[in-house]
Amino acid sequence: MVERLRARGITDERVLDAMRQVPRERFVPRAMARDAYEDAPLPIGLDQTISAPLIVAFSAAALQAGPGAHVLEIGTGSGYGAAVLARCHRSVVTIERHPTLADRARAALAATGCANVVVRTGDGALGAPDRAPFDGIVVTAMAEDEPPPALLEQLAPDAALVCPVGRRGQGTLLRYRGGRTEDLGGVAFVPLVTGS
Ligand code: SAH
Repeated sequence: MVERLRARGITDERVLDAMRQVPRERFVPRAMARDAYEDAPLPIGLDQTISAPLIVAFSAAALQAGPGAHVLEIGTGSGYGAAVLARCHRSVVTIERHPTLADRARAALAATGCANVVVRTGDGALGAPDRAPFDGIVVTAMAEDEPPPALLEQLAPDAALVCPVGRRGQGTLLRYRGGRTEDLGGVAFVPLVTGS
């Protein structure tokens, strides 16, 4: 899997090491463990998916945050993305709106030795103001027009927010940093559900 990621343009060695270390099969339903290393999203229940390895690696690298960084992820899902971030950075706070998924993610993270991740249940669009500022924020569900404003307020100076923006599952991955927005390319994600 890691060689495939390299071939697809992922060059960040810390991210590649993290992808090598995290057992993706521990974050997918048991019946799908055989497919865990295909570059594809997989269903994890409640109509949600674990993102494809390439998109996890690409988003993590796009943060351009260092080993000492304190990072926020919105959309815990399976917990896999949080586990990868946890191996690249000092600490991770991740927020999931479905309590069932949050519970499963907590169990998978504990079972794979990720002690530097805190999983919260709630609306990630509000961020985690009590733990801000963050040295990077990754959103793993698609916002319709722009990232939730509360998240931009919780960024440390010079830190990046990476967020897919678009409708009906198709959109672009955007990086916001220091008042600038960059388009990192086309992506597909489940929607960010806010205000419920
Ligand atoms: N990073 C995940 C991918 C999860 S898919 C992984 O590695 O498995 C996106 C997740 O975002 C879903 O689990 C969905 O329930 C969650 N989500 C959607 N809107 C949300 C919101 N407003 N706050 C928190 N989580 C949200």
